[in-house]
Amino acid sequence: MPIYEYRCRACGDTFEQLRPLGDADAPISCACGGADTTRLPSLIARGGSGELPLTSGGGGGGCCGGGCCGG
Ligand SMILES: [Zn+2]
Repeated sequence: MPIYEYRCRACGDTFEQLRPLGDADAPISCACGGADTTRLPSLIARGGSGELPLTSGGGGGGCCGGGCCGG
């Protein structure tokens, strides 16, 4: 069974739940008791956005000048 991620609109928390494929969009209750939940996109499909910490070069930035390099 795949893992789906849901977000509770009552408490704003997110939680994961193992569910059969057919029950992906079935209503599910949060641990807080709230039933107003929405399913988030699959964790596997996530990606593409966000900044990688490995980006280097390009000039600028708050490193140089702070004494951490070039010293
Ligand atoms: Zn909740």
